[in-house]
Formats: sequence, structure tokens, C-alpha cells
Amino acid sequence: SIDTRTLQALDAAHHLHPFNDNAALAKKGTRILTKGEGCYVWDAEGNKLLDAFAGLWCVNVGYGRKELGEVASRQMTQLAYYNSFFGCTTEPTVHLAAKLAELTPHDLNHAFFTNSGSEANDTILRLVRHFWAVQDQPHKNIFIGRHNGYHGSTVAGASLGGMKGMHKQGGLPIPDIHHIDPPFWFGDGGEMGEEEYGLHCAKRLEDKILELGPDRVAAFIGEPIMGAIGVYIPPRNYWKEIERICRKYDVLLVADEVICGFGRTGEWFASQYYDFRPDVMTLAKGITSGYIPLGAVMFNDRVADVLATKGGELAHGYTYSGHPVCAAVALENIRILQDERIVETCKADTGPYLAEKWKALGEHPLVGEARIAGMVGALELVPRKPAREFFPDRGRVGQLCRDVALRNGLILRATNDSMLLSPPLVITRAQVDELAEKAWKSLDMTAKELGM
Ligand code: PLP
Repeated sequence: SIDTRTLQALDAAHHLHPFNDNAALAKKGTRILTKGEGCYVWDAEGNKLLDAFAGLWCVNVGYGRKELGEVASRQMTQLAYYNSFFGCTTEPTVHLAAKLAELTPHDLNHAFFTNSGSEANDTILRLVRHFWAVQDQPHKNIFIGRHNGYHGSTVAGASLGGMKGMHKQGGLPIPDIHHIDPPFWFGDGGEMGEEEYGLHCAKRLEDKILELGPDRVAAFIGEPIMGAIGVYIPPRNYWKEIERICRKYDVLLVADEVICGFGRTGEWFASQYYDFRPDVMTLAKGITSGYIPLGAVMFNDRVADVLATKGGELAHGYTYSGHPVCAAVALENIRILQDERIVETCKADTGPYLAEKWKALGEHPLVGEARIAGMVGALELVPRKPAREFFPDRGRVGQLCRDVALRNGLILRATNDSMLLSPPLVITRAQVDELAEKAWKSLDMTAKELGM
């Protein structure tokens, strides 16, 4: 077979990597992954890595599930493709829509299928504006998102998100999208207690709605737990209060559960973890455990009824909306999650165990805060304790720690100087021990390289 260096050279010559400094990567050489089993992946050099990030927050049932490959193969052989346009659909697509209606909370009973989380968020921008327009409120078209939120990389997704670096490339955000500050206690919580801080952050939404005019605000969108920016876990009362404010001004509440959905918090959906009721929910990633691309939007009865009865022809859709192979894989993935009681195990056993071990990493001199909710967390690396302070050149120490962890056989993602955790939900107690041990060793080695 072709050797690693040749592959790296071909990659450097022909492949632009997303979210990478491609010039630096070409010099360093791409890591080529070749195999996965459970919570581990192997690279072309033969290194075995404990993947504490589940690929990109997505491989919930772990790698190497033969059932998923078999289901895909069967569906491809029987009916590889048909669309959902022109009054048609396929069996797995019907079953998946019904299954999602059953699984998602409250009256989120209606699914629209996409290929990705980004497209799911693009979809809500169009369909929510349409929802208001057909009720004679075309001016109710503003979306409010949050600074540093992440809702994908398409034009609408990146606009709804609040990543400044993304806005700079391509002239975003598009008009009529506004942002408020997110809850990030470590960054701006000051002396506030959790409850006070939760109300304080939610009030930012009310202030923004009043500033813009409630009759102009269509929806608020947020990740229940903000992932990409560094796993910001809001206070327990934040989302309930956000819900109250949305109801008060008749602003639709959209939960982007692309990361949180399908068990990440120890509940099937994070809106259950926070006990709030979204009108619309976007899904992707864990819906197929990343085995095949798929996204979905769940609409509640109110929104779906208006779209169906007043909306006319839905002028929106993708060639692969409701792709039968993706739907079949999603159904099998959900069957595995249910039959093996994976989410329940996370909630009752491995989640609390992981939380205990993760919080213990907070004792390390390099860690200012160890935060975790269910199976998603972060370590905030700091120059000194106990002050809540960041390194001056944010990002450098995080990258260093990530590279050190890789040398120790552990995959952790770094955003700024936050080390992010999101393992496959099938992680065992023994693997949690291994993860914690490797993380502590990596923190030690990072501190040593920094001369701390
Ligand atoms: N929303 C959230 C919260 C995400 O974390 C992501 C991806 O990481 C997306 C949306 C975009 O999903 P995709 O990359 O499938 O387009």
C-alpha cells in the first residue's frame, strides 16, 4: 500500500482542509486515520488513540459497528436512492420521521431532512421567516443568536452563529441577524451565583428583543450547551428563563441540538436536561453517530400546521432530503442506542463516573475550571490559580496541550485554551480511567514545557 509520506504529500497538494491553517498543515503533514473500534482510532503510523472527542462530537455509539454498515448495504442494494419531492418518499424515511417524532420531547412531531447541521439551520432561517410571513407578519424576520455560538458553516449557519473569525470571511452576517452575549461564567460571571448569573444572561435576550421591537423578532436560536467555542455550560435556570421571555414576546425558540441531541448530556435531548420546550429543534451528528451524513429539523405542531395550511408549496429542499440509506442508518443507530440502553447508562453510571474523574483534573495547577454536563465538558487552562484569568496569547497553550495529548495517545480538541471532552457514549469506566490518566499526564507535560 501507499506509504504515509506519499499520502501526506498528495493531501498537501490537493486537499484544502476545513478549519485549518492549510499552509502550516502542509508543512506538518496530515494525520491519516485508518481504523476505528469502540472508543479508539488508529492512524497510518500504527498509533492507537483514545478518541475523547468522538470524531467531531458525533460517534455516539462508537466506531466499528457492523450493524450500521450492514443496514446501509442492504438499503443500497434494495433501493439506493429516491427523493421526497413530487409526492414520493421511501420506507426508511417515513419510519425515521415517525421515530424522531416519538423520541423528541413535547409536540416536536414533524421532521424536515437535510444533509447536515448547517443545512438544518439554513432551513429554519427560511421556514421560520416564511411561518411569520404567511401570517401577515413579514416584518417579523429578525433572528437573534449569540456571540461565539456555532450553527454551521453555510452562509445562514455562520451568520446565525457568532464566530467573529467566520464573519470576517465572506462578509457575514447576512442582514437581520443579531447576537447577544452567551452565558460563560468563567469569563464574565464575576461574583454572581449560578442562579443570579442565569437570570442576568437571559435578560440579555429580553433587552435585545425590546431594543429591536418584539414585532420584528422571529426567533431566538441557541445551542443548549455551546460546543465549539469551548463547552459553555449555562446555569440550570437559564433556558427556562429564555423560554419564558420567548413566550412573552411570541418569539420562536430554536434549540440547536446538533451536538447535544442523542444522549450527549445523559438525556436524549439537552432541552430535557434543562427542562425547556423549544418550538423548533435542529439535529445532525449523533442522529447517525457520524456513520453517514444526515441532519433534521423538528417542528412543533403550531409551526408545522401553519406551514402546511397557509404556507403553500414548500419551496425548499435538497436532492438528498430524507435519503433512504441515511434514514436506514439513523434508524439502526437509534435502535442501538435504545436496545443497549446507552443514554440511560451515561446518565446513571458512566456519566457521573466521568464527571468525578474530570472534575478531579480541576486540581491540576494548569486548570482553572473543569466543567462537565453528562458526557460533554472542558478544562479551562490558566496561567495561575485561583484567578479566572486567560493566557495572554489565547490558543497557544491549548494547541500545545492538544499535541502533547496526541503524543500520549489521547484525542482532545482545543478551542482557545479550553480542552474539550465529548467521548463516544459507550465509553467504559476502565476507559474513563485511561482518559483521566492520560489527560493528567498531558497537563503535567504541558506545564513542564511552559516552564510552570
Ligand atoms: N450546530 C452545532 C451546534 C454544531 O456544533 C455544528 C457542527 O459542529 C453544526 C451546527 C453544523 O453541523 P454540520 O457540520 O453537520 O453542518
